[in-house]
Amino acid sequence: MKIEDLYREVILDHYKNPQNKGLIKDERYHEVHLFNASCGDDVIVQVYVNNKRVEDVRYEGKGCSICCSSASVMTTQIKNQTLENAFIIIEEYFKLVKGEAFNDKILNGEPLAYQGVTKFPARVRCATIAWKACETALKEAENEKQ
Ligand code: ZN
Repeated sequence: MKIEDLYREVILDHYKNPQNKGLIKDERYHEVHLFNASCGDDVIVQVYVNNKRVEDVRYEGKGCSICCSSASVMTTQIKNQTLENAFIIIEEYFKLVKGEAFNDKILNGEPLAYQGVTKFPARVRCATIAWKACETALKEAENEKQ
């Protein structure tokens, strides 16, 4: 199996079997809604941070397969991380999709499936929208604690 096929499998798998999908009504969660007009991607991310740990990440959204699958992958990477690690992982992911050098000890496994979007600049926003929403929600949660 070629590496590109493996990556396609990851994207299709998360598109068909999304993880942590569905929003929750709980005021402890911080929620951020982002919309990508060029593609129609529409994503809401919710995070619950407790004791500087990301106890839960959820999302709801519609859009292209890159957007929806990357939202699902994002939740699996960020959930149960410390707040500090979560920000580091998100930064490394942004480097990956922009085609910059990233730390593969911090970022590995399924997120690497999105390396291919560097060749399609229009899709970079699709691959990052859920991650950006998550980053903003985590910052809100962080600021609230101070
Ligand atoms: Zn899209």
